[in-house]
Amino acid sequence: MPSGHKSSPLAGLRPRGIWGLSVSLTLLLIILTGIQLQTGYRRTIQTASANLADTARVTEEQVRGSLRVVRLMLRAIAEAPRDDTNALRRFMATRTRIVPEIRQAFIVNADGIVTIATLPQVEGRDTSERSFFRNARELPPARDLFVSEPLPIGQNNSLVIMVSMPLSGPDGQFDGIVAVSLELGYFQTLLQSVHSGEEGAGALLVTPEGDIIDRDPEPELYVGKNIAKGGAFSMHRKAGGTANTFVHVTATDGKEKVSAVRSLSEPALPPLVVIVGRPLDGVLAPWRAEALTMAAVVGTLVIAILGLTALLNRHLVALRASEERYRGLIETQNDLVVRLTPDDRLVFVNEAFARSHGLDAAQAVGRSWRTFVHEEDQPATAQALATALSPPAFRATVECRMTMTCGLRWVSWEGAAIRDMSGNIVEIQAAGRDITEWVEHRDRQAELLRNLDKSNRELEQFAYVASHDLREPLRMISSYLGLLGRRYTALLDEDGRQFMEFARDGAKRMDQMVLDLLEFSRVGRLRDGLGTVSLGEAASIAILNLALPIKESGGTVTVAPDLPEITGARGEMIRLMQNLIGNAVKYRQPGRPLTVTVSAERNHDGWTLTVADNGIGIPPDGFERIFDIFQRLHSRADYEGTGIGLAVCRKIVEHHGGRIWVESVPGEGSRFRFTLPGGQA
Ligand code: ADP
Repeated sequence: MPSGHKSSPLAGLRPRGIWGLSVSLTLLLIILTGIQLQTGYRRTIQTASANLADTARVTEEQVRGSLRVVRLMLRAIAEAPRDDTNALRRFMATRTRIVPEIRQAFIVNADGIVTIATLPQVEGRDTSERSFFRNARELPPARDLFVSEPLPIGQNNSLVIMVSMPLSGPDGQFDGIVAVSLELGYFQTLLQSVHSGEEGAGALLVTPEGDIIDRDPEPELYVGKNIAKGGAFSMHRKAGGTANTFVHVTATDGKEKVSAVRSLSEPALPPLVVIVGRPLDGVLAPWRAEALTMAAVVGTLVIAILGLTALLNRHLVALRASEERYRGLIETQNDLVVRLTPDDRLVFVNEAFARSHGLDAAQAVGRSWRTFVHEEDQPATAQALATALSPPAFRATVECRMTMTCGLRWVSWEGAAIRDMSGNIVEIQAAGRDITEWVEHRDRQAELLRNLDKSNRELEQFAYVASHDLREPLRMISSYLGLLGRRYTALLDEDGRQFMEFARDGAKRMDQMVLDLLEFSRVGRLRDGLGTVSLGEAASIAILNLALPIKESGGTVTVAPDLPEITGARGEMIRLMQNLIGNAVKYRQPGRPLTVTVSAERNHDGWTLTVADNGIGIPPDGFERIFDIFQRLHSRADYEGTGIGLAVCRKIVEHHGGRIWVESVPGEGSRFRFTLPGGQA
């Protein structure tokens, strides 16, 4: 492609490039969405974990508070004087009433025997092997409280928790324990208050050994179970520290959960473990909804991007194909194609233009068109360009000469304005064809026509002068023949008289022919001026002139009323009608009443007139010949005449821009038809 050609903005894009771009865009979108979703997932779990950690902390504090109440109570009992057993029992009963969930309180001596109890029937029992006794005896130095796993007591084996505190003797040695049995309900209300109530959520209180002290909801299913080996509890143990959060599978119901685990961190109290958890499903529900919406949006976007890409691609392929075709067309054709700015600079020239000027396309681009157009033709070219830039047509044609490598050539240009997308004219595109040969041919023809016209005029002049001048000697021959006849007829024998007659007849015929020739040469020359001629009137005058022969023939001549008016020579039109009607009368069929009609009909650019008769008709081989000068189909003996009439008719019709012909069936009649351009009915 020649340089300087401005491509469309899409031309740089390749279909594969577009697909690459849109697939990359789609992938990027998907990856970003993935990252976003993952971040959202993590953040959702983090938030849930943080919330659960808070809940666990609050729960732990509440458990701690509850234990403190029990501890204070135990301490008060431990510090009460033990000498009056009844008073102590009453005191214990009063104290334990503060916490309704306390079933009983009792004091055990160093050997494990219950010495005083709020329920007297347990006094004397041996608890030395019970965990609450043994563990209370072996508590680390700073701790003074032990909480047991749920233990079945009484006849109905209902579960209680034993909370025990070691007693020390006067010199600090182990002196038994004071303990209370607590109903599980003690922690139940507390656990109930901390979890959300959401399906699958729950709160647990567990001993340091992994025995579930309490759970909400559904404590009956879990209490007493040991979870030391599974789930959040063991993870918490492994992780160390007092507070942890996990996403895990629970040891109790095998479901995925987010849990916060917290150990009681008060040194005096047993390190019970609080676990609060929510099902992962519930935690992720809002995120899942968001992810679904996002996936739907991204999915729609991806489909839209790919759909648009396919569409764009199809357009691009079509555009490129059409550009290729257009370029191929412009480049390969022999016509010259240029594009130029409204300020006269060429911005594109095709191969043919560059080649014909012996240039590279790049060398021509940027120059003014004036560089290439002949000086004399520049004003016309500039005018054509201005027309191409103006309404309404926005196109123009011009013929100009251009200096090419092969010499000065005539080029016919056709140019049109080109607009940009917003409708502003940006360039003019013009296609030019070398018409040098045609122009030369046209000039030659014009020259020939001029010459022909001249020689025609000379010929007519000659015919006129010759026929005019010939009549003089003819007249002399005729008059001397007359003289000879008058004076010397008596001297001549029969043959001599006949020869004289032939000579006189020849001279007469020649005179008639010369007269006819004179009339023929006059057609179109001695015009009585062009004007509006009513053909109806012309026909009437002709009929009037022919009144005698028509009357003699006994025939009828009918003229249609709608004969038109045309622009022409009146005398010639009368002559035309007279010759045709006269012939119809002359060449009538003997024994058949003659009818002649003159009519007219409209044709695409004027009128067709018809003079029809029912005479002897004309054989087809005479259709052309009868219009030639002095051409006849009959001898003079049969029909008078010189054969000039129809030649005059043809000359008149042709001088008026029409043509004449005959249609005939021999023996039936003839229709002489001629056309005349323009005119009105
Ligand atoms: P002319 O009548 O003097 O012979 P024209 O040029 O008028 O010369 O006619 C040429 C010939 O055409 C005639 O000799 C005749 O044979 C033939 N012709 C012309 N008009 C008619 C017609 N209406 N019917 C039959 N033949 C015709």
